[in-house]
Amino acid sequence: MAPNVTIPEFQATQLDVIPAIASNARGTFRTHKTKSLKWRLVQLRKLYWAVEDYKNELVAALQKDLHKSEFESLLSEVDWVKNDCLFAIAHLETWAKDEKLGAPVVPATFSLMKFRIRKEPLGTALIIGPYNYPVQLVLVPLIGAISAGCTAVVKPSELAPSCAMVLKELVEKRLDANAYVVVNGGVPETTALMEEKWDKIFFTGSAQVGSIIARKAAETLTPVCLELGGKNPAFITKNANLKIAARRLMWGKTFNSGQVCMSQNYILIDRDSVPAFIEYLKEAYAEMFPNGAKASPDLARIVNPRHFARIKKMLDETKGKIVMGGQMDESELYIEPTAVLVSSTDDSMMREESFGPIFAIYPVHSLDQALNVANSVHRTPLALFSFGSKAENQRVLNEMTSGGATLNDAYFHGSVNTVPFGGVGDSGWGVSRGKASFDCFTHARTIAETPTWADALLRVRYMPYDWGRLKL
Ligand code: NAD
Repeated sequence: MAPNVTIPEFQATQLDVIPAIASNARGTFRTHKTKSLKWRLVQLRKLYWAVEDYKNELVAALQKDLHKSEFESLLSEVDWVKNDCLFAIAHLETWAKDEKLGAPVVPATFSLMKFRIRKEPLGTALIIGPYNYPVQLVLVPLIGAISAGCTAVVKPSELAPSCAMVLKELVEKRLDANAYVVVNGGVPETTALMEEKWDKIFFTGSAQVGSIIARKAAETLTPVCLELGGKNPAFITKNANLKIAARRLMWGKTFNSGQVCMSQNYILIDRDSVPAFIEYLKEAYAEMFPNGAKASPDLARIVNPRHFARIKKMLDETKGKIVMGGQMDESELYIEPTAVLVSSTDDSMMREESFGPIFAIYPVHSLDQALNVANSVHRTPLALFSFGSKAENQRVLNEMTSGGATLNDAYFHGSVNTVPFGGVGDSGWGVSRGKASFDCFTHARTIAETPTWADALLRVRYMPYDWGRLKL
């Protein structure tokens, strides 16, 4: 049951005020106040309490936008952000401290000089978020920006409009509004933001839009961190525990109704294990949804009719056989957790990222074949999962790359929010979370300091290069 709170109607930021918003955030950075560690810690504490105080509004907005259950909203959005805040508060002093460099990094011949790495904020950041985790996927990068001492403009997804409105109030009322601002809107507003000069752009979303952002950023040589999607494979070998694999992969596709960048798109499974695996999937389904998935208060809905139609089209066009689920109801944007047995990489279920509660099962006769198929579908997915013996899992890791990987489970490597997370190749550039988020918005500036009294020792470097002159 969603808390009874009022959430304002979605309102996009006016396009003509966007340049002034960006310029103000840049101006605030130039006051240098955000560089003070004390100031950053105050902002992080304010963010923690803002998320706590707006908990009911966030839960209600997530229910409205995605039909997310309170449990998922707290676990993967509200508490997730609060934990990241606490982690940053606890470690910021250590992260931000100058790193003193000595031997062996500094060779003995340079031992008269002092070397250190100063951790400097990059400046003013633009953070653009997707709709599936509309709260945490903008606030977690914001924690990184605040920790690093940057100012930032946040652009949440317009496809989660209630969350976007709560985020605007939460950030601008509780944090320093000259340093942290939310711009709401879709393509026109993001395009206007991209006309401004930023010191870092942190984008989470689809590869298609990621490439638009990267191209535009390249015009001004602005660094970007891209957290993108991928067609993630799961491998199930002869030696896997099929019951565990079925239950864990069902979790991966039912959490947020599969609208998770890391969830498996397709499963490559030993041919002989297919019948038993399908039975275990059905068993897991029955355990999770004793009254059917549609009646479950826990299952989120598809975000909007456009994405519903996109997922439906994948099911309409498949040449495969639906072996679990298959029901849908457009009026509720409901899609049942669905498994489709396919036999070709050209199948609609294999070609695209489903980003919904549907997935393909592709039988293979060997791990060799599984690795060939996966590498041909998407060479650099965001995640992969391997259920097999130790040696088989190791082989999968060796012979296929991915942003991250989990062995014998669905996306657990991305569930600990303080370890680095990111894609590889076209599933993302750069990592974030925990210290990685701090580093993402930080410039590691090497400083060398030469004592003036050492000039006699250093004079070998001056012209003319006359080695005969070398008398110390
Ligand atoms: P999206 O790329 O459609 O939108 C992301 C953001 O870009 C939104 O704020 C949107 O307003 C903006 N945008 C959309 N079109 C634009 C354009 N033409 N020009 C400028 N800005 C534009 O992504 P989405 O549909 O919200 O999210 C789903 C995608 O995000 C999936 O591919 C998923 O895998 C990926 N994702 C990745 C991660 C990760 O951490 N790697 C996390 C969540 C989602």
